[in-house]
Amino acid sequence: MMLFLVHGMDPKLYERYSRQILFAEIGEAGQQRLLHSSAVLVGCGALGTALANLLVRAGLGRLRIVDRDFVEPSNLQRQTLFEEVDAQEALPKAVAAERRLRAINSGVSVEGVVADLGPRNAEELLGGFPLILDGTDNFETRFLLNDAAIYLGVPWIYAAVVASYGVTLTVRPAETACLACALETGEGGNGAAAARAEETCDTVGVLGAAAGVIASIEATEAIKLLLGKKDEVGGRLISFDVWSGKFQSVRVARNPACRACVRREFRYLEGEAQPHLTMCGRDSVQIHERRRQLDLAALGRRLESTTSEVRENGFLLRFRVPPYELTVFADGRAIIKGTRDASVARSLYARYLGA
Ligand SMILES: [Zn+2]
Repeated sequence: MMLFLVHGMDPKLYERYSRQILFAEIGEAGQQRLLHSSAVLVGCGALGTALANLLVRAGLGRLRIVDRDFVEPSNLQRQTLFEEVDAQEALPKAVAAERRLRAINSGVSVEGVVADLGPRNAEELLGGFPLILDGTDNFETRFLLNDAAIYLGVPWIYAAVVASYGVTLTVRPAETACLACALETGEGGNGAAAARAEETCDTVGVLGAAAGVIASIEATEAIKLLLGKKDEVGGRLISFDVWSGKFQSVRVARNPACRACVRREFRYLEGEAQPHLTMCGRDSVQIHERRRQLDLAALGRRLESTTSEVRENGFLLRFRVPPYELTVFADGRAIIKGTRDASVARSLYARYLGA
């Protein structure tokens, strides 16, 4: 017993995190601090699942996961929290991830939120967390995260992965370069990685291993920030290609005329940017301008006669209108698979779900 009394931590917790406590940069005090920390993760795909797995195992206190999508068979190659049954049931990723993470570490408060982060709900979903983590798949949402983090004055970690290559940048508002400093072209912007940003996993695929490496760097940066070691993070664009083995760490200077972190013009947070309709890696369009509550069970009964394969799982309703497949969430949002044409998606939405 005396052995356990030497340190102040509960013996079971000490045992659980002992290998991490032995690491000198964390120690028992660091672990205690981590256990009382929190973060919000936006996007739960390849990067998000790998990152959430690492952070929940490391024992942060609370994690909110915001994701708009549901699990599909093509996710299983790289999205490490999901299983075949999640894809069969088309569970929302936020729900499937929350279940799995609670089973991995019941001591962490994990909250999955099925929602599409946009200008209207960004403050509500991100507010109150000292750290924002990027697991998204598109630059509209990342620039929204950048605006929101600067507006809220909290650090955030950008991360992206495509093919065998990934990149990450930790942003401490007003202290290090932000995503707009690094990527936006125009006055004073250096547009460093803009060219590669045009490629998506839609066109060139993505390796699970690349997501694993970048998520690992992102998780380490997150832990350093949550431990208060802020001077050890930020300001460097770190990239890694798992196929060629090439690693780069490039210092990014703040842009003295930056639209976001200097002039504080939050164009994405104010909703002036175009809404993002097409979805990465998928022949799909998302319709989400109509925000309303739907009774999915009642809607399912009504659609039985005019559509096929109607299924409802408590979180979403799915039905087929060949060659299309429509997935509808309770907030009125829908993902229409089988087209990349927004006007086709809108007309299907209007016909089956109403205007
Ligand atoms: Zn900036």
